[in-house]
Amino acid sequence: MTFVIPQPPQATVAVAGTPDRFPVRRIFCVGRNYAAHAREMGKDPDREAPFFFTKPGDAVVDSPCTVPYPPLTQDLHHEIELVIAIGRGGADIAPDAVMDHVWGAGVGIDLTRRDLQAEAKKMGRPWDWAKAFDLSAPMSPLVPLADVPSVDHGRIWLAVNGTVRQDADIADLIWPVRDHVAYLSQAMTLAPGDLIMTGTPAGVGAVVPGDVMTGGIDGIGKIEVTVGPRA
Ligand code: MN
Repeated sequence: MTFVIPQPPQATVAVAGTPDRFPVRRIFCVGRNYAAHAREMGKDPDREAPFFFTKPGDAVVDSPCTVPYPPLTQDLHHEIELVIAIGRGGADIAPDAVMDHVWGAGVGIDLTRRDLQAEAKKMGRPWDWAKAFDLSAPMSPLVPLADVPSVDHGRIWLAVNGTVRQDADIADLIWPVRDHVAYLSQAMTLAPGDLIMTGTPAGVGAVVPGDVMTGGIDGIGKIEVTVGPRA
């Protein structure tokens, strides 16, 4: 086969402890999956089924990294999240079978142009411009499932310039991994290479050029992202 333009490069994420790479297909993100964060965003966490938005696969960037402060925003926010990597596809996956489809896990930051998100919510518009910009998904190296102690509990935290802002436990997920991945698979056929960013705990906030975000999930990994000058 001959492509009529240069073939786009395959987006990939590092794999912990090896030179191997995980090829990325799509990035699904869960909205408001921790009750305290739902409340800080002005929503009642008891009333919602899980909902999703997406980022392009090539929004990923390996940690440690510097991400330029993106255009069109005055309010760039950090959201530390557990990342689930799908290794085997499927549709209508039962919750009990979800982990058979998971290749591994990692730590990501769902960078968010919060002012554009607030405007989109107000206008009833999609979230893409708030969420799906270039380099909006920094990732730790992914860890194969055999080396992941748990996707159900473990401290999740993020600090900016050494001051902890987000500090919770993935046990606090309203929709745990098995449940929200099963639910997602009812809407889309999941495929190898899909990543799921599983939502962020309370304590989201703004960063500015020069800030250094560090974070992690116990037993899974650490991430470090520096905010560069405006793109
Ligand atoms: Mn998020």
